[in-house]
Amino acid sequence: MAIIKVQKGTKDILPTEMPLWHFMEEKALEIFTKYGAKEIRTPIFEATELFARGVGDTTDIVNKEMYTFEKSERSLTLRPENTAGVVRSFIENGMHRLSAPVKLWYKGPMFRYERPQAGRQRQFHQVGIEVFGIKQPTADAEVILMAINYLKALGLNDLTVEINSLGCPNCRENFKTQLKSVIKPYLSELCPDCQERFEKNPLRLLDCKVTECKEIYAKPEIQKVIQGDFICEECSEHFNELLGYMDELGIKYERNKLLVRGLDYYNRTVFEIKSNNLGSQNAVCGGGRYDSLVKNLGGENTPAIGFAMGMERLASLLEGKQEEKLTAYIVSNNTREAIKLTEELRSKGISCEFDLTNKKFVKQLEKASKVAKYALILGEDEIASGKITIKNLETSEQKTVKIEELSL
Ligand code: ATP
Ligand code: MG
Repeated sequence: MAIIKVQKGTKDILPTEMPLWHFMEEKALEIFTKYGAKEIRTPIFEATELFARGVGDTTDIVNKEMYTFEKSERSLTLRPENTAGVVRSFIENGMHRLSAPVKLWYKGPMFRYERPQAGRQRQFHQVGIEVFGIKQPTADAEVILMAINYLKALGLNDLTVEINSLGCPNCRENFKTQLKSVIKPYLSELCPDCQERFEKNPLRLLDCKVTECKEIYAKPEIQKVIQGDFICEECSEHFNELLGYMDELGIKYERNKLLVRGLDYYNRTVFEIKSNNLGSQNAVCGGGRYDSLVKNLGGENTPAIGFAMGMERLASLLEGKQEEKLTAYIVSNNTREAIKLTEELRSKGISCEFDLTNKKFVKQLEKASKVAKYALILGEDEIASGKITIKNLETSEQKTVKIEELSL
């Protein structure tokens, strides 16, 4: 019979890769907790409307990439990202009544119907942060710090932080008008997506990956508009204060005026962190401020900022991290003693196993040296004298101690 294979764009995370994933998850808990953030877990599927309104119906994510299905006449969607779900929960659970800032972090699978390639899957995982209730750029600085310190805790240092300000709806309107007027003469030469963006969301034009479009946007008269400072005084102050904190803390960044990010809801600060050790899918982290989203989804007016990181991309940078060995493997042909000792050690927090099939002593020793740091040998002599032999499997050192004195 034909075997059923894993779906295109999805992957098993196998036991051998788990130590790496545990490491990424443990570091997230450790680092984000230091900043006062609390974990939240929202459902994998939500009402389709949440993403249409929350991510924006001019985005690729909503237009092309959603896994949408119907059940009991309700349209549901597998979450393509988690900000909309966290905001829904924030509103539904009245979290605006908590004293600000409310800092939430999450991790889990996301689903996007994309063309699979290296660093791009249809089910992938993100770890992310959302900070609610603070409009000052101190929150922007903290969010960027959380991202950088998390990446540093993973041992990733060769990173570039790109940053930009998209301004507020007021200054952006002016920019959009200017941008449209310089791009209009080339409208018929743009890709179909850009022709649509031109009407619906001109800022996203800058995000286009099509070479012909990029060449058009590189023209001097268009660059002049893009590179010009369109943001208003208030937005500019907000941005400069943030850059001031970054300078103060010695965080290097590059201003990238083409950085607009894929989602509709961003305003003011947007940022991306790129790894210099990845190929074309080199963005490990994307984030930004979304001051109007909570209100747009029916909540109280609440400023917010967050980021999401792609865990598969982090994992590929961390490859080579060793699989954790068991602390101990019990070598014994007395299964009754072996099962008792194993349980006792486990209750003391020591990871260990014994041979469930009671194979020959030598075979058990061989297995121990593959899977554990120590072999704990419990032969007939040891049992008779209430002792145990500890063999360090890395150095081959060996000693026999009273069983009560066993320590690893
Ligand atoms: P990209 O430009 O790479 O498509 P994006 O702007 O769609 O990224 P976000 O929605 O901001 O990405 O998600 C944040 C991070 O999640 C990205 O920086 C990336 O590391 C990761 N990511 C996004 N889409 C995928 C995917 N299909 N497979 C694996 N990782 C992904
Ligand atoms: Mg994308």
